[in-house]
Amino acid sequence: MAVLEIKDITKIYRASGKSKITAVSGVSFNVDAGEVVGFIGPNGAGKSTTLKIITGLARATSGAVAIEGNDIVKSRVKAMKNVGAIVEAPDMYLDWTGLENMKYLASISNIEMPSDMGEYSKKEVILDRIDELLKLVGLYERRKDKVRSYSLGMKQRLGIAQALLSRPKLLVLDEPNNGLDPSGIIEMRNIILHLAHELNMAVLVSSHQLAEMQLLCDRFIIIDKGKIIATPNKAELFEQNIDAAVTIATDNIVGARDLLKEKFDIEATLKNGHIEFTTAIDVGEITKELILSGINVKGVQRKEATLEELFIKLTAGGKSKC
Ligand code: ADP
Repeated sequence: MAVLEIKDITKIYRASGKSKITAVSGVSFNVDAGEVVGFIGPNGAGKSTTLKIITGLARATSGAVAIEGNDIVKSRVKAMKNVGAIVEAPDMYLDWTGLENMKYLASISNIEMPSDMGEYSKKEVILDRIDELLKLVGLYERRKDKVRSYSLGMKQRLGIAQALLSRPKLLVLDEPNNGLDPSGIIEMRNIILHLAHELNMAVLVSSHQLAEMQLLCDRFIIIDKGKIIATPNKAELFEQNIDAAVTIATDNIVGARDLLKEKFDIEATLKNGHIEFTTAIDVGEITKELILSGINVKGVQRKEATLEELFIKLTAGGKSKC
């Protein structure tokens, strides 16, 4: 069973006067335990609306969302207990320490206790859980420092620890890397991958940082104008018919260029010691032809298709419709 099941959701907002905006239209997808799914689309595509529906901040006009089999309308409490989310800026008190913020959140949350607590009290179990989470997000050493002194990356990581307190099965993150520096982005990536691949959580992430999404996600859901337009996984991404950029190193660049034009109708550019071109033709075929014609091939490089290229191709430039 999928942790998150979204079935045919539509969200219609009433705009000014009698006009209506269909922000999300017939969207269905699942997220399973142990995977990181990237939710991407141009501005105005319907991402935030979908994430708000999943996290209970907005209600779908029609369709259904279930988390761990619990319908988010009919069994709201059970469903929401299984969602940890950072969709809007996480709530935290800047003049309190990271540990105090965690303790406060625990005091106002209804945290489910393990069935066997041994001889430990509820308080001890919760404090233990807080320590475990602060270690997981790399903040244990700084737990007694005021949040005001934390970097943006540390605040984001504290937000993740807060979101995980109630042991949710699903984590929903909207732009978790906004404003983070490169090391902050790497730390965030490592935490998310650990949560999904080692702790078996289901993770749904939305971000415009496509190169980072390509490193982070196992598969992608691409949405545009309220509808899902593609759902490639990592392997399928590279099978898309996107022209690959190829570089072939040879000491006979002119001979290689002419042969490519003659045999494959490829327009290659001459560079110092190599030729460059883009093609959908199998690079092995091209290399074989060059070698058979007596052209010495010293190296071949093929740049793989990126999520960004696929996104631009599918969404007509990734432009906002607004
Ligand atoms: P994204 O997160 O992909 O940028 P949104 O879900 O925020 O997209 O928005 C989808 C569409 O719904 C846009 O046309 C947006 O203007 C509209 N929209 C979003 N929230 C509201 C709202 N509260 N009232 C009216 N229209 C809204």
